[in-house]
Amino acid sequence: MRCKCGYSFSNEVSGPDRKFESFAVIRDRDYRVFIKSETRVLASKGSDAKLRALARSSKFVGSLMECPKCLRAIFSEPGGANLVIFQREV
Ligand SMILES: [Zn+2]
Repeated sequence: MRCKCGYSFSNEVSGPDRKFESFAVIRDRDYRVFIKSETRVLASKGSDAKLRALARSSKFVGSLMECPKCLRAIFSEPGGANLVIFQREV
């Protein structure tokens, strides 16, 4: 994913070397279903079953990221249907 300023968000960098903040976003109305789905992920036996449960659960998760270069906030709705970019007021 790339910001309007050109900064490229890479998921390859994690931990203290990551240069941007990101947050998981779950719709309020889906939160209870999401928590139940996450419980199924934890209870799944075997890696294939766990991956399938994780794939089902991940459809409830969007993200909010802050660009470290221009400070825009980039919101990705759960399911990746829409991407909204907010610019800070000065
Ligand atoms: Zn930016």
